Amino acid sequence: MESFNLVGKVAVVTGGNGGIGLGMAKGLNEAGATVVLVGRDEAKAQAALAMLDQNARFIAANVTRQSACKALVAEAVKSFGRLDILVNNAGTSIRKRPEAYTEEDWHHVMNTNLTSAFLCSQAIHPEMQKAGGGKIINIGSMMSLFGAPYATPYAASKGGIVQMTRSLATAWAIDNIQVNAVLPGWIDTDLTRKARSEVDGLHERVLARTPAGRWGEPSDLAGIAVFLASKASDFVTGTAIPVDGGFSIAA
Ligand code: NDP
Repeated sequence: MESFNLVGKVAVVTGGNGGIGLGMAKGLNEAGATVVLVGRDEAKAQAALAMLDQNARFIAANVTRQSACKALVAEAVKSFGRLDILVNNAGTSIRKRPEAYTEEDWHHVMNTNLTSAFLCSQAIHPEMQKAGGGKIINIGSMMSLFGAPYATPYAASKGGIVQMTRSLATAWAIDNIQVNAVLPGWIDTDLTRKARSEVDGLHERVLARTPAGRWGEPSDLAGIAVFLASKASDFVTGTAIPVDGGFSIAA
C-alpha cells in the first residue's frame, strides 16, 4: 500500500543497535527508509547493520547530552541530506526499592529515558521543518500506565514520555510533524532478560497476565513503527498506543 511506503525517507533510531530499536529499524528499512542507528556500543551496531540493507549507518552518541544530539543530527544530515523520522527508543532501568535509589540513579534513568527523547526531538525539529514535516515516535512502556515497586524512576520517565508526546504533538502540528508514543508490553530483549534475573517470578507473571500467552519479540514492534512513520498516520498525533499482546486490558 503506497501510504506505508518510506522510500526516500530518512529515519534516526536511538538505541537502534539492539532490542526493540533494532526491531523497529528493520521494519522502517524494509518499508524503504534509510536508517541511522544511534547508540554507544559499536560492536552491537555492526551486528545490527549486518541485518539491514545498504541504506543504513551507525552514529555513536550518548543521547543524554544535548551537544551529542545536535552533533548526531548534523552528522546524519551530512550523510543523507534530510531527516524525516525520529524514534526515541534509547532506554534503561535500575531496579530497586524507592528508598534505595541514589540521586545519581534517579538522574541516570530520567536522563536516558526522558531527557534524551526531548533533546533529540528538539535537535531534529529544524530538519523536519525543512523537510516539510516529520514523524516522531517515542517509546513508553506499560510503566507509562502502571506502577511497580521496583521501578520508580523508570515509571516516572515513561509516564513523562506520554505527556511530553502530547505537548510536542500540539506544538509541532503546525509544522506537519506528528508525535506519537508506543507503549510496548513485555518484550524479550537484553533489558528484560536482566529484569527477569532480578525480579522473582516476573517471567511467569507476564505470561499469566498477557492474553496473547507469550512474551513479545522486537519484530512485533516493526508494524507500528512503519505505520507511525508513514503517510498512513498523517491524522494521528499525540496518541500512546499499546503493543502488548493485551497486557494492558487484562484484569
Ligand atoms: P535494550 O537494552 O536492548 O536497548 C536499549 C538501547 O538503548 C540499547 O541499544 C542502548 O545502546 C541504547 N542506549 C541506552 N542508553 C543510551 C545512551 N545514553 N545513548 C545512546 N543510546 C543508549 O532494551 P530494549 O530494546 O528492551 O528497550 C528499548 C526501549 O524500549 C527502552 O526505552 C525501554 O524502556 C523500552 N521498553 C522495553 C520493554 C521491554 O519489554 N523490553 C517494554 C517497554 C518499554 P548502547 O548499548 O549502544 O548504548
